Amino acid sequence: MNCPYCGYHDSKVIDSRVVNDGIRRRRQCLSCASRFTTYERLQPASLFVIKKDGKREEFNRIKLLTGIRKACEKRPLPTGTVDKLADDIEAELYHLGKAEIPSAAIGDMVMERLKSLDYIAYIRFASVYREFTDITTLKQEVDTLVSSEVSASLPTSQLPLLPDEELETVAKRRQRSRK
Ligand SMILES: [Zn+2]
Repeated sequence: MNCPYCGYHDSKVIDSRVVNDGIRRRRQCLSCASRFTTYERLQPASLFVIKKDGKREEFNRIKLLTGIRKACEKRPLPTGTVDKLADDIEAELYHLGKAEIPSAAIGDMVMERLKSLDYIAYIRFASVYREFTDITTLKQEVDTLVSSEVSASLPTSQLPLLPDEELETVAKRRQRSRK
């Protein structure tokens, strides 16, 4: 690590401490005596995702985060929920210790968590991920959720189901299906 001030190639460690997931080192340049900080962190082994078409691509946390964030858009989830969810999944993936994992398995992990968190986010994610091509499949999924909620009491962690317009849409859909 070259000195960020003068570019000299050597420095000495004047302090080092363990932080969350790595080591923080306070360094001093041996040439200009400027102080700077470096972090040492374990680089997880590469993880590849096998997509539906069989192609492989390196696991991308941002991609995972974006997908979850989209599904959770405007939902009344506490700040940090989405990031934590992505973190948990990432940690679990690396914990599996596999070199490759099917994208479907990751999708299932996300869905499982969203289901216990927020039904709307779950349905949104499922509709993209499972590529609901017609309204019938989507309706089946919603009906499954609604009926499972009627038969079982609402988990306390669950946010209010289908508020406002989304509730109306489902109600209309259900009415229509009864006719
Ligand atoms: Zn220097």
